[in-house]
Amino acid sequence: MGETPTIQTKKSNQTPKAIIHQKYGSSACYRIEEVREPVQNSCPGLAIPQQGPCLFRCNLQLPGLSVTSEAFKKKKDAEQNAAQMAIEKLDIQPATDSSTSQEPWDVLIAARISSLFSNEFLSSQNQPQHPLIGHFRAALQRETEECGLLPVSILATYDAKLNNLCKSINHKLDRNPHLIVTLIMKAARKSGSAAISQGKLWISKQTPYTPEILQALTSQQLSSSEGIWIQAVRIPCSIEKPVEPVTLYISSDGYYMDAIAQELGLTDTSQILVSRTVGKASSEMRLYFSALESPVPSDLSLEDLLDAKEPVTNESFNDRASYFSSQNIYGDAILASIGYTWKFPDLFHEDVSLGTYYRMLIGRLPNGGYKLSREAILVAELPIAFTSRSNWRGSYPWDLLEMFCRQHWLSEPVYSIISITDLVDPSLETSQASKKLKVANPAEEETKYANGRSHAANDKESIAPGGSCRCEVKILSKGQDLIIECSPVDSYRKPNDAKQNAALKVLSWLNKYLRKLDMHVEKLSSSGATHGLCFYPENFSKEFALCLSVHAGQLASSLRKCSLLASSCMDQLNTTQEHGVCSFKTEGLDSGVFPSNGSLICISYVVSLVRKGEHMKESLESSDEFEFEVGTGAVIPQVEACVTQMSMNQSAHFNTELPPREFIFAAAGDSLKSISLLSMGACFLEYSISLLRVTEPLEDRMEQALFSPPLSKQRVEYALRHINESCATTLVDFGCGSGSLLDSLLDMSTSLEKIVGVDISRKSLSRAAKALHLKLSENSDPAKPSRGIKSALLYDGSITVFDSRLGGFDIGTCLEVIEHMEEDQACLFGDVVLSSFRPSILIVSTPNYEYNSILQRTDLSKKDEDPDEKMQSLPCKFRNHDHKFEWTREQFNNWASDLAMRHNYSVEFSGVGGSADVEPGFASQIAIFRRGPIDAECSENLDIAQPYEVIWNWSRS
Ligand code: SAH
Ligand code: MG
Repeated sequence: MGETPTIQTKKSNQTPKAIIHQKYGSSACYRIEEVREPVQNSCPGLAIPQQGPCLFRCNLQLPGLSVTSEAFKKKKDAEQNAAQMAIEKLDIQPATDSSTSQEPWDVLIAARISSLFSNEFLSSQNQPQHPLIGHFRAALQRETEECGLLPVSILATYDAKLNNLCKSINHKLDRNPHLIVTLIMKAARKSGSAAISQGKLWISKQTPYTPEILQALTSQQLSSSEGIWIQAVRIPCSIEKPVEPVTLYISSDGYYMDAIAQELGLTDTSQILVSRTVGKASSEMRLYFSALESPVPSDLSLEDLLDAKEPVTNESFNDRASYFSSQNIYGDAILASIGYTWKFPDLFHEDVSLGTYYRMLIGRLPNGGYKLSREAILVAELPIAFTSRSNWRGSYPWDLLEMFCRQHWLSEPVYSIISITDLVDPSLETSQASKKLKVANPAEEETKYANGRSHAANDKESIAPGGSCRCEVKILSKGQDLIIECSPVDSYRKPNDAKQNAALKVLSWLNKYLRKLDMHVEKLSSSGATHGLCFYPENFSKEFALCLSVHAGQLASSLRKCSLLASSCMDQLNTTQEHGVCSFKTEGLDSGVFPSNGSLICISYVVSLVRKGEHMKESLESSDEFEFEVGTGAVIPQVEACVTQMSMNQSAHFNTELPPREFIFAAAGDSLKSISLLSMGACFLEYSISLLRVTEPLEDRMEQALFSPPLSKQRVEYALRHINESCATTLVDFGCGSGSLLDSLLDMSTSLEKIVGVDISRKSLSRAAKALHLKLSENSDPAKPSRGIKSALLYDGSITVFDSRLGGFDIGTCLEVIEHMEEDQACLFGDVVLSSFRPSILIVSTPNYEYNSILQRTDLSKKDEDPDEKMQSLPCKFRNHDHKFEWTREQFNNWASDLAMRHNYSVEFSGVGGSADVEPGFASQIAIFRRGPIDAECSENLDIAQPYEVIWNWSRS
């Protein structure tokens, strides 16, 4: 990988402030100043300068020098910056490690080696046992001339103290097992108690052990008399060669390192090198590989050693093994889980299958990590949104991000919560006032609508107690180089939600681009910028250099193989999948209970690998209960598309093309069987899914649990009262959805003769059509309430566009629809409906934002949630995550009054749930518009415009 080690002591791990402190102590004086940088003034006419966020500069006074830092958001960054500037000006060299700690590192290392090769180390009977003791025992039991000899690399690998001493010289040593081995050999010579074999990497005690110690050591052994077989995996150096399973046999009196060396084709075990543990922290999973033929000469000075380049060609660099361990590994490697540990008196070992390898591989990318946490490799992808703790399944985004950083050997992510209310300085009364004034300005109004949700969050009146917050997250390397900085603009009521969403943003970006690192840096940057994410290309590519070659290489080689084999059926599948739909068959009766966005649903499924033509099938994965939230991208698109067209208790089957091979192996219980099936060609995946349960979105649950009758029913009854009062014969329901209002009207006796619904959701319309058709054909009985209905129609179209077939109806309803559109669209709808459709009466309902504090304080949580969780369970700022806004009473009144005035309507306000006279008003606020005396405006409506498409048309014959 061509990384040149540099001497850390020159660049030191110390912070600039620490260096200054060392030199100047208390005579260094830091002073923080607040600065407000003016923002580019967007309204040149505005007298009051706009204020940017508060920043800090730091002035540092030293004897004979004064420096002032750049401006920073954080005081401590400003201080460090000032210290750094002083260091550069004064050209201060940080104290070197050897001068602070008196003793050079190799002396310390030599001392530790001496203690490992003392009689006491083996005679100490303290439990738990040091992991090295097993190695000593096995080596001393050898009956060959190699008796008592240990491979050098195991010392640093299994003795944490020695390992830390080596690492603290330079964090880059940590990446390089070869240099560590050289360093230990060098120190061993100094130690006087350990001997190094000429030309080999063996290390042994200089003087023999006493017979008592040897006696005690061998009598401790607990192992059974039988040998063990363990499964391991070979990762060939060439990425073109497949990873393959290998079996190791370790005889009862043998040394496991010997068995691994043999598998690696080494002539003697001294040539073996061992990586750090990979995978779970608790595992003994490590990579074993061979030392380079010409290791670094050990007579180099420490500094030269650190500067030494690895004497190798890149051809023998093992990308995959190095990627797994973040260490430089050359040649073939064996991945095995075996070793002596503090916990077990005997040799610990566990099988590592191909499946294990592939699970580790895919687990290193965020979506893979998520899939693994859900134990549903073939179903789950990383969701696009974190809506609430109660709906999220699998590891939380911040846990996934932390795991990602750990696996890639980075520092822990650093989060900072920014409170939006903090950014508004209360002393700036004047700028507050100007903000309020601006609302009256029509040009400003426009930007307000465009800002939509984020503006609502900034609006002081509408902030729920506790304020709103955003979250920034930073990813740094182990050497503290900044790699990624992400500060999404979205604000949340709870700091935790802000944190989870910020983590999710970073994960999604990483997920998308780690496989495309060969993309142009500018493209990567601009894609990052649209996510509110800034990354530092140099530091980034240093850390993730291997990601691309390993994942893309794996993908390419598996695709190459699979595509040849499966091309025929893939062609066929591709054509259906290009449009994001795949055909599927549904079975079972329609129960009428459908999932919608925000529903939490539970399915059971089986995914099988199937060979086309012949009936050869291998079940890859199945689950009796798999829960996920609909509409957040928590599952692959085909599954989401399928379940949203199923009703509860129905089942469906569909096929998809093959995912990358590593996903199949990771899921397959029996990877060998899957390989043989794949190698026969023409395979695809078959999914069968049953929809077991549908839990309605939060909003619906609240409306049902907190109101009696449920709020939706109260809205219908409200509309019904107005229908009857006005003796309306024609009704149009704008944004009819699945037809809940129209359907309920058919159960009641009304004056209506013609009912029409309009919506843009085909899916909802087809459900509405089904339900209405059933009810109307059943209701041919003259005694049925709906017998007055002569015609019913459903249109697909946007209610912001006029269709002349729906002009001049007696009554129009638009219940809980406008908040699903962007604010500017809601305003457009208002104008179109009152200027063109011009119904005699129009009823519009929408949530009252002020009522949310009551809804969200009420304990609606399920019994099984713990008390802490209860407070957390309703984190939605809005009632439903599909809502683009929710208005206060004042906002709604302003919208409706202004609209009515401009179009010659009168308007009055009412609502359902709660009461007008008790704060905070109704739960659902309603405006009733009544058309004024006919004026000139309506004659314009004679224009014929018919953009809507008829979806369903019923008339009584
Ligand atoms: N009125 C129904 C549905 C409310 S959900 C009820 O009370 O149950 C909101 C509905 O508005 C959704 O079905 C959505 O598809 C529809 N919608 C959103 N924007 C629309 C638009 N521009 N034109 C027509 N329908 C729209
Ligand atoms: Mg709604």
